[in-house]
Amino acid sequence: MKQRNTRQKQIIREMFEGKPVHLSVEDVLEKVRGSEETVGRATVYRNLHILCREGVIRKITGEEYSFFDGNPLPHDHLHCTVCNSFTDIPGDYDCEMDERTAELTGGEISFHSTVYEGICKDCSIKIKERKHGI
Ligand SMILES: [Zn+2]
Ligand SMILES: [Zn+2]
Repeated sequence: MKQRNTRQKQIIREMFEGKPVHLSVEDVLEKVRGSEETVGRATVYRNLHILCREGVIRKITGEEYSFFDGNPLPHDHLHCTVCNSFTDIPGDYDCEMDERTAELTGGEISFHSTVYEGICKDCSIKIKERKHGI
C-alpha cells in the first residue's frame, strides 16, 4: 500500500514539476487514471496537498476556479474566457505590494496573485483568423 501511494504521488509530481501547468483536481484525476488503474479522489487530493506543503506546487483559488500550479513561485495569470485556460504572466514579483497591503490592513500577507480576465494568445489568433475567413 505504501509503495503504491508513493508511486501515485510520483506520477502527480511529474505532471507538475518544472512545468507551467495549471490543473484542477478533475484534470489530475483524469490523467492519473490514464496511467494508473484505480485511484480515489481522496488520494489525489491528499497527494496534491502534500506537494503544496513541500513547495512543489501552489494552489490558486478564486471565486470561480481552483487549480494547482506547477510553478510554485507567486505570479499572475491570464484567464482565457474562451478556452478556460490559465497562462503565466512573466515579470518580477512585486514584494512591495505585499508590504503596502500589510501596512494598510494591519494584517500579514503571504503572497498575492492577480488573475486578468481576457483571451489567451491561441484563442486570440483563432478569432482573428476566423474574422478574416482563413
Ligand atoms: Zn484560450
Ligand atoms: Zn501559473
